[in-house]
Amino acid sequence: MSNLEKRMTKFRSIFWHRRDLRIEDNIGLFEASQKSRNLIGVYILDPNLLDLKKTTSEAKNWFLGESLLELQKNWGKRGSRLLILIGDPIKLIPKLAELIKAECIYWNKNIEPYEITRDKKIIAQLEKDKRKVYTFLDQLIVNPKTIKTNNENPYKVYGPFYRKWIDIINKTQLLNDNSLKILLTPKRFQGLNDNEILLLKNSDLNYSIIRESDPIYDLISSNRFKNNNLCPCKPGESESKKQLKSFIHSGSINSYNEARDIPYLESTSNLSAALSQGTISCRALWNGAQLSKNIATNKYQYNSIDTWIKELAWREFYQNALINFPELEKGPYRKKWLNFPWQNRSDWLKSWSNGLTGIPIIDAAMRQLKYSGWMHNRCRMIVASFLVKDLLIDWRWGENFFMRNLVDGDLASNNGGWQWSASSGMDPKPMRIFNPFSQASKFDKNGHYIRKWIPELSHISTADLLSGEILSSERKGYPKPIINHKYQTSIFKELYANLN
Ligand SMILES: Cc1cc2nc3c(=O)[nH]c(=O)nc-3n(C[C@H](O)[C@H](O)[C@H](O)COP(=O)(O)OP(=O)(O)OC[C@H]3O[C@@H](n4cnc5c(N)ncnc54)[C@H](O)[C@@H]3O)c2cc1C
Repeated sequence: MSNLEKRMTKFRSIFWHRRDLRIEDNIGLFEASQKSRNLIGVYILDPNLLDLKKTTSEAKNWFLGESLLELQKNWGKRGSRLLILIGDPIKLIPKLAELIKAECIYWNKNIEPYEITRDKKIIAQLEKDKRKVYTFLDQLIVNPKTIKTNNENPYKVYGPFYRKWIDIINKTQLLNDNSLKILLTPKRFQGLNDNEILLLKNSDLNYSIIRESDPIYDLISSNRFKNNNLCPCKPGESESKKQLKSFIHSGSINSYNEARDIPYLESTSNLSAALSQGTISCRALWNGAQLSKNIATNKYQYNSIDTWIKELAWREFYQNALINFPELEKGPYRKKWLNFPWQNRSDWLKSWSNGLTGIPIIDAAMRQLKYSGWMHNRCRMIVASFLVKDLLIDWRWGENFFMRNLVDGDLASNNGGWQWSASSGMDPKPMRIFNPFSQASKFDKNGHYIRKWIPELSHISTADLLSGEILSSERKGYPKPIINHKYQTSIFKELYANLN
């Protein structure tokens, strides 16, 4: 063993996984492994982030649980281990560092207000204990600090944000900068010895290795999603890589421009949960898109790839928005929306939530969410507009419902999507009101998506499915429309016009 290697194995470090449930191309983990090979991984099941009433869903917990299982195996294969603790990280991280005598603690930064406040407290305690803390930016392609207007202000509108974002990336590439290259993590670490494991087991840390029989496994890995295979987002680092490969090599990325808006085709990447939990890096997606461009054979394919890249930029736009305006988490960006006289009818919310509004495209989408934990982007926009502008229900109720049901629920993207749909966000475009019937006619013109998710309507003609004009005798238990779109949206417009 060389002197450098000896030094590297002497210093013990902890790497704290948070929204980066992978070994490969993980900036914080890579940096930690360059400084010390005596490296222990930890993940903390933080009750604040596992609240099924607010912050998570059964589907997301399943994705998390399965991904942790794989991550734990991968740490094991490298000669160390991933500890999974349950409780408050403010107490657990300093305590673990003390118990296993770790000198340095590494992690990748998060951008949500709760996590930022929490992390500051943890850093203060660790530094008080004379430990070193190293944090990195891993979850965004472009560092938010660099995306500023000429006056050094944050961008509030997507268009100019995107132009700056892509300009920074292009310049980085011209300089042959390594920041977008995939990082290869070393094959071996050194872990805890048997005595230390015993010490941990006898400590009061709520410590667990996830096994099928373990109660934590029940908590995070719901059988409903484990067995039904309906969710298009597949958990774990290896599945995420496969999904990206398949999106590129099947050619879906080349026809994204048109196919992305047809819910029945399921032709998008389905990588939203992987990006949100970090089973894949955003750089891997960027590099995948570049590879596709190198092999694209015509302009249409090239443009499609660019459209997909623009979606990656939407994700970064909303994360930047939350970093710069953390108050978005609590309510509308445009304050006049605080005075909107919502009607908030709980019976209508119930019909919407259960896919029983009597409007086929809305119900198909809401059932897709209920049964698969995921919903197509076009449908997210349609059902969100319907909740706010037809049912006159506060968009924050919809935002919360999505968080409690989506596999990819993510504060920044979800809040951004809802504020965009409600017209309460930063985007200054004119008021958008989606007509569910014309949306269905345009994007589900053969009614395949509606029939898939509402099988009791499979005998109805396509024209009637799209217009929603279904005879009572043909409904077979399917409800009549709970509202009239034209009438409800006229009320909405009037209420909005009277807002100060
Ligand atoms: C009301 C509403 C709520 C939403 N809630 C969420 C959420 O909680 N989590 C979430 O990840 N996305 C959310 N979105 C954005 C979008 O619907 C999903 O990211 C997308 O459907 C995921 O499918 P995909 O991975 O196949 O995306 P692709 O079309 O393959 O796009 C690639 C990636 O780009 C990002 N992306 C694509 N579209 C958007 C967008 N409009 N905004 C932000 N990022 C985008 C996602 O990370 C996605 O995985 C929401 C949109 C709306 C209208």
